[in-house]
Amino acid sequence: MTKVLYPGSFDPITKGHMNIIEQASNLFDEVVIAVLQNPAKKESMFTKEERVEMIQNLYRKMNHIKVVSSKQAAVDVALLYECKAIIRGLRSLTDFADEVSLQQINKEISGGKINTICLFADKEYQFVSSSVVKEVYRLGKDISNYVDPLVKRKMLEKRRYPL
Ligand code: ADP
Repeated sequence: MTKVLYPGSFDPITKGHMNIIEQASNLFDEVVIAVLQNPAKKESMFTKEERVEMIQNLYRKMNHIKVVSSKQAAVDVALLYECKAIIRGLRSLTDFADEVSLQQINKEISGGKINTICLFADKEYQFVSSSVVKEVYRLGKDISNYVDPLVKRKMLEKRRYPL
């Protein structure tokens, strides 16, 4: 049984993330989605608990997709849940540059145990990111193309995020 970890901030989960999750779930027996705190991204729209709850609701009926959250490094979460590899999604050359260094560090700090597998976003999701979604939302524009209706509803409920 091959389990993989898909770590990220998911603030919030977008249709781009969901595209990668779908691809990974077709390739592996189990996908563990790990909601982590990215120290480079200081201000989040949703708490970690809210992000986990949204993703859990989206994949409630899918037994081979699990959601966890952690303060630990992605490689430690991968080892904890007995995942063979980390999945990352690639959109552009800048994603590639970031992932090249990240995968090297992750391999090193896991003592060579954790590899990274990159999957490519389908073309309609190549420009979708959580930050773009938040920006479009702040401008008061429709975000239906970028997020699931459940996530859109949660975003509209967020009063503290000014339009
Ligand atoms: P992080 O803060 O770790 O970059 P994100 O939640 O932004 O977390 O993204 C998690 C992973 O999903 C990363 O590998 C990122 O490149 C990938 N990703 C994000 N948006 C998309 C998308 N639209 N298509 C494909 N991959 C994506």
